[in-house]
Amino acid sequence: MKDQRFQIFCEREVILSAGAFGSPQILKLSGVGAKAELDKHGIEQVHELPGVGDNLQDHIDLVHSYKCTAKRDTFGVSLQMAAEMSKALPKWFRQREGKLSSNFAEGIGFLCSDESVSVPDLEFVFVVAVVDDHARKIHASHGFSSHVTLLRPKSTGTVKLNSADPYDAPQIDPAFFKDPDDMAVMIKGWKKQYQMLNSAAFDEVRGDCFYPVDPNDDEAIEQDIRNRADTQYHPIGTCKMGTEQDPLAVVDNELSVYGLENLRVVDASVMPTLVGGNTNAPTIMIAEKIADVIKKAYADAREKGAVHA
Ligand SMILES: Cc1cc2nc3c(=O)[nH]c(=O)nc-3n(C[C@H](O)[C@H](O)[C@H](O)COP(=O)(O)OP(=O)(O)OC[C@H]3O[C@@H](n4cnc5c(N)ncnc54)[C@H](O)[C@@H]3O)c2cc1C
Repeated sequence: MKDQRFQIFCEREVILSAGAFGSPQILKLSGVGAKAELDKHGIEQVHELPGVGDNLQDHIDLVHSYKCTAKRDTFGVSLQMAAEMSKALPKWFRQREGKLSSNFAEGIGFLCSDESVSVPDLEFVFVVAVVDDHARKIHASHGFSSHVTLLRPKSTGTVKLNSADPYDAPQIDPAFFKDPDDMAVMIKGWKKQYQMLNSAAFDEVRGDCFYPVDPNDDEAIEQDIRNRADTQYHPIGTCKMGTEQDPLAVVDNELSVYGLENLRVVDASVMPTLVGGNTNAPTIMIAEKIADVIKKAYADAREKGAVHA
């Protein structure tokens, strides 16, 4: 397929749903975007829309992990775990019960970073295992972890083209911590997480911390965040919904692309600002809402005899 070229035509409209990285990339490859960037890659411009690929927002996240002596209640790499799995696996397949019925991320909490904040700006996710570098680094021990996530970042980044080749990955710059307010809130979240994990409730089972940092040293905390914080995989905003007056708006409130006909973007890229929680359900909700809009538009048109059934 890679070297084959073919055209597919549609009768009514095209719906682009390639996500916050894929949708702006496809629009730009198709000539929809800022002229300066398209020119750089020899792409003929079809329509000027400077907001395509701009306004990227994502949830930055930092994990603290500790070794844990309560091996029965946690997951890890150990002989005990191997022995447990031989019983847990058949139990899960037969009864959907036992240790493997855990979703690993067993507890979630939403907190305000301080009293001046009226809606939660921090999310905490408690995991019954060691999570290091998205679980790419495996440790031979049992443990528990907590994620702290900055829910309402002010920083915005970009999705740009690396080339005009559709098989090339786009250039993604989330620009985490571009706005210094984001680091200030994240440091408060770091301290709240430290306080929780070092509370008396964990005293009996808590072992060593994997990346210990002095909780009274803000510079060291900031460095720890800069060294280890990473995405919680919630990119949005790169085909922003907005009014016609908004210079960064890509789609209107029915998710139709400004300046073009019969083209909508329907995915997380249309969110103008990041929701203060996880993004999967809101994305599904956006899709459901627009499905209703489309069904109604075509039902109305059919009634008027404008389209065939
Ligand atoms: C590892 C991970 C864990 C997550 N965990 C959670 C969670 O626990 N809770 C939660 O709420 N959210 C979670 N999310 C976020 C959630 O998955 C997204 O917010 C949601 O899927 C966004 O939906 P979307 O339709 O915008 O994009 P996507 O679901 O990414 O769909 C885009 C689709 O387009 C396809 N595509 C992209 N480019 C092209 C191209 N050029 N050609 C053809 N196809 C293309 C992709 O393959 C993909 O199938 C997680 C995300 C990841 C990556």
